[in-house]
Amino acid sequence: MEDLINLAYIVASIIFVLGIKMLGKAETARKGNMLSAVGMLIAIVVTLLAKGLDYKIIFAGLVIGGGIGAVAAKRVQMTGMPELVALFNGFGGLASLLVGWAEYHRKSHLIPEELLGVVEPMNEAVAASITPLPTFTAVVIVLAILIGGVTFTGSVYAWGKLSGKLGGKALVFSGQKIVNALIALAIVIPGILFSLNPTGEMAYTLLFVVIIASLLLGVTMVMPIGGGDMPVVISLLNSFSGLAASAAGFIIANNVLIVAGCLVGASGLILTVIMCKAMNRSLANVLFSGFGSVTQSSAKGGPGGEPKAITVEDAYYVLEAARNVVFIPGYGMAVAQAQHAVKELGELLENNGCEVRFAIHPVAGRMPGHMNVLLAEADVPYEQLVEMDDVNPTIEMVDVAFVIGANDVVNPAAADDPGSPIYGMPIIEAHKAKSAFCLKRGKGAGFSGLENGLFTAPNTRMIYGDAKATITGLVTQFKDS
Ligand code: NDP
Repeated sequence: MEDLINLAYIVASIIFVLGIKMLGKAETARKGNMLSAVGMLIAIVVTLLAKGLDYKIIFAGLVIGGGIGAVAAKRVQMTGMPELVALFNGFGGLASLLVGWAEYHRKSHLIPEELLGVVEPMNEAVAASITPLPTFTAVVIVLAILIGGVTFTGSVYAWGKLSGKLGGKALVFSGQKIVNALIALAIVIPGILFSLNPTGEMAYTLLFVVIIASLLLGVTMVMPIGGGDMPVVISLLNSFSGLAASAAGFIIANNVLIVAGCLVGASGLILTVIMCKAMNRSLANVLFSGFGSVTQSSAKGGPGGEPKAITVEDAYYVLEAARNVVFIPGYGMAVAQAQHAVKELGELLENNGCEVRFAIHPVAGRMPGHMNVLLAEADVPYEQLVEMDDVNPTIEMVDVAFVIGANDVVNPAAADDPGSPIYGMPIIEAHKAKSAFCLKRGKGAGFSGLENGLFTAPNTRMIYGDAKATITGLVTQFKDS
């Protein structure tokens, strides 16, 4: 039986790996998601069949939790996706914390019986030499509680910041580092003392201190990070939730939970690193610098001069004559929910004999794959999506680089100005196209708070207004002509 269970766990683990691999490409992502879900179903069914459990409670939990999850996922707007992911991570962390606590409680109550069963007749010297709760288990209990606790409160705080309920600003106060150091000590010292003597009189109290301090650490860790950087934090917390689950897997000796937790931990960390690299920032800079939290009045501006505006009608005439257009979507497209209108405009341009592509910057928007998700929602064909590295070498041939609410990801200062805070961040080189149209509502800065030389470049024309309204206006012009 044990062998069969482990075989099923290996199959489930292989399915997880294949599913994650398929998530790497837009074309196969849906199937990858389904495949991973099948792997999880196998893991859950086998685990439930293998243990003599109270199915009533499990079924009740499944119905209540599944129901809440399904309604939340159905209702969430695409712009609210990072918030939902934050909450999911947080609850994953809380689950691992509870597993750690509950298993300690259960095991510490089992000790006398276990000992009596193992050593008969009870010999005091032998009994004393047996550790009913091995140090390893005690250590993983502490780890599950620590990582789970930080993930829970950190994620809830991140959710509050992203949804605007807690304000997006980085909260920095004097003595913050000392407070954090004290909290860390309140985890490390009781954690070590507990692990050394998990059945001692003080064990419960020590573990309780670790729980409280871990919950506090989650808040103080996320507090000094600006709302705009929350997607990176959420990706990191996602990785933490995987590690916490893995620790929980060690506690209850469940192989597939260990593997699944490690996969989540590793993939979350890889995603975090990819996001930091695409912004040309280190993880330390994201976590500790309070980037984007202050108005960067000291930041250097663009090359000066006033941006030149163009009307929707005039923009139409240029687009009508264009043979090669690249749409460059950014956060503003998500705000305006302009993806359906953009798709329609793209089709009209194609029918007019124009080559249409959508250039996607890895960190355009506010979450990984933000633009891909929005464009997929509008059914933009995958073949029209091109990555930054593929579009840049061809950008000089492009008649119109059509920038929709993107700012930082097309800011030439990242390439030209060594003094700029975003210097070194790879950009889509819209300023090198034959002409550029930039859609934005006004003079608002991007996430980094910097001015953008693209907007004052000689070949750029601004089309002011909400992106959806502007694009709908262009669509109407095409249809009426
Ligand atoms: P930016 O945040 O740089 O710029 C968005 C622009 O959209 C603004 O200039 C704003 O100007 C405009 N805008 C807002 N609403 C509308 C609207 N309704 N219609 C038209 N325009 C609008 O976005 P980018 O996508 O260029 O850059 C993303 C930034 O976020 C990068 O700096 C990236 O590093 C950062 N980031 C991304 C993460 C990710 O995972 N993708 C994670 C963390 C950070 P105006 O107000 O004038 O309209």
